[in-house]
Amino acid sequence: MAAFSYRYVFRGRLKLLTAMHIGGGRGTLVPTDSPVVRTPDGRPFIPGSSFKGAFRATVEKLASALSGVSCGLLPGSGCVGAQDDAQKAFNKRRRNENWDEARLVSELAAPGVLCHTCKLFGSAFLAGKIQFDDLYLADELDAIMQIRDGVAIDRDSEKAVDGLKYDYEVVPANYGFDLTIRLNEPDTMELALACVGVSEFGAGFGQIGGLRSRGLGRCQLGDLRIYELDLRGADRAERLKRYLLGARLEDKMTEVPDPSQFLESAISRVLSQALAKE
Ligand SMILES: [Zn+2]
Repeated sequence: MAAFSYRYVFRGRLKLLTAMHIGGGRGTLVPTDSPVVRTPDGRPFIPGSSFKGAFRATVEKLASALSGVSCGLLPGSGCVGAQDDAQKAFNKRRRNENWDEARLVSELAAPGVLCHTCKLFGSAFLAGKIQFDDLYLADELDAIMQIRDGVAIDRDSEKAVDGLKYDYEVVPANYGFDLTIRLNEPDTMELALACVGVSEFGAGFGQIGGLRSRGLGRCQLGDLRIYELDLRGADRAERLKRYLLGARLEDKMTEVPDPSQFLESAISRVLSQALAKE
């Protein structure tokens, strides 16, 4: 595996605008039909995979408006990341020609094989370039959970099931969670797509967890800080040393002076290109 040459880290605080429910399964001591997911010491958290799913959906919705940028995981787009005939044909070639890992990577890197969002977030074949840490409660306070009454909804008809009640636990609004997103060696488009997601969550348009149709899980990203590391320049050795020896992120990487400006220029760089192509 080649050594990385540049990366970005986004940090901030994700604040709940409405209560949130990410189901944690039974087996906890909480007396409810549907408890929220907790750390081993009992505090609610947001699994990085849950946040990633919501973030990807947000980016895909917007990226689909730019033609050819995102398959949206829908069949028939030509991207082999979606489960369809293109993926089957790709897998067939892979088997018949007995590709090794290096060959697979080079085939996937060919233009048009994977769409930009599948490259960024990952596909059935290859991990993506963006990683989401688990999000833990920002303050060292104990979260006070709430239990809400609900009516059981039939999944197929989406109608209430008569007489069947259940309750579910939520993390109330206003709690904040620490967020860290890592982005390794994105191209211009992938960086822009990541910035689109960060910008949407920054504007309060993000929504995470379950029961979203009931308005749960609306959230807003604040206190955004962006760090970058670039080992491609002339002072590579000096930066690498700083990165390896630094204890904190602030010591390892360079903080971007104006995060909003950074998002704006990353997005507008590709937006003008994409619009010119249409
Ligand atoms: Zn795709």
